[in-house]
Amino acid sequence: MPTKRLLSQLYISYLLVILICTLAVGGNALGWFDVLYYPLKERELLEKAHLVRSQVIAGLAAGGDVVGQRAAIDPLCKMWGQDTATRFTVVTPDGVVVGDSKEDPAVMDDHSMRPEVRSALAGRLASHQHDSPTLGIRMMYVAVPLEADGRVVGALRTSLALTEIRKATRDVGLRILGGAVVVVALTSALALLISRRLARPLVEMRQGADRFAQGDFERKLAVSDTEEIGGLAAALNSMARQLDRRIKTITRQQRELAAVLSSMTEGVLAIDDRGRVMSINRAAAEMLGVDAAAVVGHPVSEVVRNPDMHEFVTGVRDTRREADQELSFRREGGNLQLQVHGSSMHDEDGEHRGTLVVLRDVTRLRRLERMRSDFVANVSHELKTPITSIQGFVETLTEGAIEDVPTARHFLSIIARQAERLNAIVDDLLSLSAIEQDAERGRVTMAPTSLSEPVQAAVASCRAKADENRIGIDVACPETIEATISSHLVEQAVRNLLDNAIRYSDPGSQVQVSVERDEREVRVVVQDHGCGIAAEHLPRIFERFFCVDKARSRKLGGTGLGLAIVKHILQAHGGRVSVQSALRKGSVFTLHLPTGSSSGSTGERVAQDPAGAAFDS
Ligand code: ADP
Repeated sequence: MPTKRLLSQLYISYLLVILICTLAVGGNALGWFDVLYYPLKERELLEKAHLVRSQVIAGLAAGGDVVGQRAAIDPLCKMWGQDTATRFTVVTPDGVVVGDSKEDPAVMDDHSMRPEVRSALAGRLASHQHDSPTLGIRMMYVAVPLEADGRVVGALRTSLALTEIRKATRDVGLRILGGAVVVVALTSALALLISRRLARPLVEMRQGADRFAQGDFERKLAVSDTEEIGGLAAALNSMARQLDRRIKTITRQQRELAAVLSSMTEGVLAIDDRGRVMSINRAAAEMLGVDAAAVVGHPVSEVVRNPDMHEFVTGVRDTRREADQELSFRREGGNLQLQVHGSSMHDEDGEHRGTLVVLRDVTRLRRLERMRSDFVANVSHELKTPITSIQGFVETLTEGAIEDVPTARHFLSIIARQAERLNAIVDDLLSLSAIEQDAERGRVTMAPTSLSEPVQAAVASCRAKADENRIGIDVACPETIEATISSHLVEQAVRNLLDNAIRYSDPGSQVQVSVERDEREVRVVVQDHGCGIAAEHLPRIFERFFCVDKARSRKLGGTGLGLAIVKHILQAHGGRVSVQSALRKGSVFTLHLPTGSSSGSTGERVAQDPAGAAFDS
């Protein structure tokens, strides 16, 4: 339905009222004018007749016969008629006209049968309206009897053309109409002003309500002094205040909820009953590899292209029961393991609203578990080899080989070597776990120390082995370079690197140990010119039990744990270890120790949170 403006509705109503009133008043006035004007004119005619009656009676008496009477009366009639714009007619009892202000009485017919004349000749006052046969127009007649000596001697008739009266009525009507037009013009202008005044607050209120609907609650509505409209504006203002407050509360709650959801490490995915994503937090979007803002409203089957996940969500939705499952998602660089928990969502009234899925990334956990079990398997395997060997030789000896002294000596030396290896593995494992535990619990005690202290100690402990293999060690370590370190751990790390450098170098070659510093870090560099490490092995050499060539490493007394220990020592210091190597050219291992916390530090420092190692190759 087309809407109408209040202003035009009010204005049109006012106009109608004004027009109806004006028409009613004007019409009525005109009607009353007619009602009052006709008797007034009759009375006027009567009065005029009365005024001249005596003169006519005298004329009739003086005239004698008809001719004489006409001569006496007719000029008078003509004179009066001219003066008063009234027709005067005098008729004798036998109907002869002896005077008429408009016509020659001689040519006028018998008037005794004119109704008003007949009444007057009969002695009665009479008035009548009819067409004048003489003038041919409608007239108003008043006739009075002319009496002398108690008898009727004639009738005097005064008359007026009705057109005159109608003209007067029309004049009055035109005046009334003119007045009405002025009144209508003035009142309709007034009506326009009033309508505008009435409509304006409502228009302003509508504009205000539009502003409120758009969320602009700052500008309030002006409260008019009209009770109803002012009350409405005040009610709207109060509604706006409440809405503003509620919207702010809801927005704040939404922000809090969004903040909670986005800071959660668990992924949260809400799905409606039609299987569309209602909301998804940052963690879930990252886990599922989707854009959180773009997927809301889309079917979850399109968003997460994983049939297992789809089946899981459908299952929870259909059964409305909680469920847990571990799902695997394919990703570049390895699968993602997600622990998925699904439950039904209900609102405050217990109404079912959809399905809530909470995702937990357990990839790292699973990898750690796998690493742990791999480690146990590796340890068992590493320990098993020397134990089996010892067992075998002991059995052979007990079965009689002990009698053969040279063989027994040889077997015993093998058993001793295997026991030594066992000891070495266990020692390395113990140091590794001690370092890990101390670092985890923040128990690694550090103090500002000159690096020459642990470096020289490590060189000294390796010197004998180096000499044995005819390998020279050059040391370049200024005493002034200090760092906040655990001296014995750094010594162990340098010793392990030197051990490897000696182990994997050819006799007669040289190993260099140097210490240097810049603004960011202190570096301990151990360089050899040995066999080197192939590029593809570099990323793995810091793993526990990893050996490029197991047989060779074992033969040389390696456990596969040396570099893992170095890595953990550096992590405990918040540093890292890097390696550069080229096959048959040699290797450069560098310990990077941060100076940041050590510069200006005088007291002891305990490493709280060792950062992850970065391995450059
Ligand atoms: P291992 O006790 O077997 O030496 P590490 O953890 O110390 O164990 O070293 C792991 C592997 O890295 C070694 O088996 C060896 O193959 C390689 N490696 C370590 N240091 C060197 C080096 N200086 N030159 C050549 N290869 C090395």
